[in-house]
Amino acid sequence: MSIKKEHIYFLKIISVSIFVILFILFFLFWIISGGLEKISPNLPVYIFLFLDAVLLLIIFIFLLGLFKKHGKNKSLLVYPSRYILIKILYPMAFFITSIFRINRDKMQNSFIDINNFLLFSMNKQVSLDRILILLPHCLQLHNCKAKITDDIHNCLSCGKCNIKELAILADKKDMFIAVATGGTLARMVLEEKKPQAVIAVACERDLSSGIIDGFPLPVYGLSNMRPNGPCRDTFVDISALSDLIGRITLFS
Ligand code: SF4
Repeated sequence: MSIKKEHIYFLKIISVSIFVILFILFFLFWIISGGLEKISPNLPVYIFLFLDAVLLLIIFIFLLGLFKKHGKNKSLLVYPSRYILIKILYPMAFFITSIFRINRDKMQNSFIDINNFLLFSMNKQVSLDRILILLPHCLQLHNCKAKITDDIHNCLSCGKCNIKELAILADKKDMFIAVATGGTLARMVLEEKKPQAVIAVACERDLSSGIIDGFPLPVYGLSNMRPNGPCRDTFVDISALSDLIGRITLFS
């Protein structure tokens, strides 16, 4: 498993973020350097270099977790690497996409791919009954009356949306699939089921929030398809989902 071109987009945004942060730091120190110089002439330079070193160390630890080949110590590196990705780099990338009006969905897609990549690289096994699949309500046909948020098996199997296939998948794999109408319900299901891993299907924005809220729980993300616009009659690639389940039960 190696770095894919989807990962590069996020890394590019992070590179831009570093330049922006360095510029902001430099500007701040230029403003306050007069006061600091009164304490010691070299103090502004030392503080500036120290903060640069901390920033570079953070990036180095993240890249080490990302690029190191599988091995005994790989899972030890993944936790700090994921921590840095979720707690530091994602907020930085979010800030950059806001000020430069960069395509946020693309950045979030790349973030989700890197998160999945790091989780796969841990080679930790999870049994099927400890995996929770969380689906968004918008997968259900908008005018269907079946109460699938109570139980996906309440689907009447008309086949007009993906829910029928997903109910079959849940039975075939004997695993729990929940449909959540929002973050609060998703948190309640997590609290009740206490899974060891989650596969979340949603739009890039909700997946990113779910990965961040769920940390340190491994949350694997799979983006839904939205041919009818956001939040309406969306789809999920069932073979991609099955593949993800297979990889997690085999490796993760
Ligand atoms: S497959 Fe048919 S019955 Fe089942 S949730 Fe979709 S639209 Fe409703």
